[in-house]
Amino acid sequence: MKIFLSSDMEGTTGVVDWGQCRAPSPEYDYYRGLLLAEVNAAIDGAMAAGADDFLVNDSHSTMQNLRPDQLHGDASYLSGRHKPLYMMQGLDPTFDAIFFVSYHGSMSSAASTLSHTYNPRAIADVRLNGTVVGESGINALVALAHGVPVVLITGDRTAAEEATPICPGIETVVVKESVTRFAASSLHPRRARALIRDGAQRALERLHTFRPPAITLPATLTVVFRNGDLAEMACWVRGVERTDDKTVTMTDDDPLRLFRTFITTVVLTRDIAE
Ligand SMILES: [Zn+2]
Repeated sequence: MKIFLSSDMEGTTGVVDWGQCRAPSPEYDYYRGLLLAEVNAAIDGAMAAGADDFLVNDSHSTMQNLRPDQLHGDASYLSGRHKPLYMMQGLDPTFDAIFFVSYHGSMSSAASTLSHTYNPRAIADVRLNGTVVGESGINALVALAHGVPVVLITGDRTAAEEATPICPGIETVVVKESVTRFAASSLHPRRARALIRDGAQRALERLHTFRPPAITLPATLTVVFRNGDLAEMACWVRGVERTDDKTVTMTDDDPLRLFRTFITTVVLTRDIAE
């Protein structure tokens, strides 16, 4: 059984500030260790359920937050800051299941620690076929393209709740309750790891009940940017249409192409995002 694991960082137990998840800082060095332990807890649980092949795709910031020799399960490690498929780079149809570890809520959620949707300086809100989605829902387009189910998400409660409509039946492990974007009540890391391990095992023991993400095709992404300049620039990408001052839509019957169109708008608008 082969597992694709995409690891972010803002959903790690204890993390409540950008300084804790951005290099260089002593705090970052500490919290990246907690992230590594949560990734390993998910791998441990998967191995207990019979998984034996792992690819960890580092998906946070410059995407080089883990220590390759400390990954459990002899996992392969995909890292580095320029990846065409970003948080889903490396996925293909040979994988049996997908884990999202240390994910966070969307920019438009009521309160989620360090909430954002790909770029907090550019994007205010994203809907997929009308449903508010965070990174989990957008990334699920790639899962659908390859026919692989997303079976586990770990992070704060908002991350868990936002993933559920797109990935029905997904095993959710809540390691912290967000109070605001910069405060959360976290489980003790040891307790969080135990829950992640159990959740990963449980998800794979009922893998036969899962289907690829529930996204009706053709699918539409509606993106509200933080200002009109960003929306105007996003329309430089073919297939992106402006619907009001700050809003654009993109529709495609190919989920992978839709994801790539979205990523292109994210990368393009980075230049003028403040
Ligand atoms: Zn993120």
